[in-house]
Amino acid sequence: MTNGYVSEMFGSFQGEGPMVGERQLFLRLCCCNLRCRYCDTRDSLTEQPEARITAPDGSGVRSLPNPLRAEVVAELLDSMEPEPGHYYALTVTGGEPLEQPGFLADILGLLDGRYRVVLETNGTLAEAFREVGHLVDIVSMDVKLPSVTGLGPLWDSHLAFLEECRHKELVVKAVFSEATPVEEVGHAARLVAGYAPDAVFVLQPMSVSGAVRPQPEDRLLALYREARRSLANVRVIPQVHKIMGVR
Ligand code: SF4
Repeated sequence: MTNGYVSEMFGSFQGEGPMVGERQLFLRLCCCNLRCRYCDTRDSLTEQPEARITAPDGSGVRSLPNPLRAEVVAELLDSMEPEPGHYYALTVTGGEPLEQPGFLADILGLLDGRYRVVLETNGTLAEAFREVGHLVDIVSMDVKLPSVTGLGPLWDSHLAFLEECRHKELVVKAVFSEATPVEEVGHAARLVAGYAPDAVFVLQPMSVSGAVRPQPEDRLLALYREARRSLANVRVIPQVHKIMGVR
């Protein structure tokens, strides 16, 4: 069994995408291969000295020194459900959880189907996904738009990732801003349609300084219509947890 770096574990309401509002158990792993300009989990981008574990009822937080053994993480996750069926899913997030694929595979293997597993990923680490894909029920991947990330295009990495996970239940999220060209959203939607035409494609307005910033409806409509040219299941959903004031 492996050791790895955990940022935090907590229960909350899912705040993004089509599962918004579902009660979920979150396992946030450390490290990320990207540095997006809008990243709101910056304290999880590198190995952290401690993992923060929030009590299931939110009554307290304790810290455990990293790295943690996979068995310890699995036992903690197993113990964090207040009553059977409380959580819709265990959501593994980051950082980028596929930065530690062996550690993640060990944890999920030990849980042995205890929870439905959602993997939130930046969708660029196809090779790492091969190690854990069979343990994941739903993949929620990003398509990173250069207009908002401040990074170069990642289309080739996303293509390789889509190839790997095209048989999974798939949600694809594209964060956009006022600066995002309509054509960029069209390109992302066509890329997804080539591998996963049934995927739920979520357009997520970029939050600014931790708050959801409204965008004009005609702008939202233009992006939505462009994506709908390639995909049947398109939705515009902001980060709802930031409106609700939960994590
Ligand atoms: S991929 Fe996600 S965790 Fe990594 S820098 Fe970008 S927003 Fe942050």
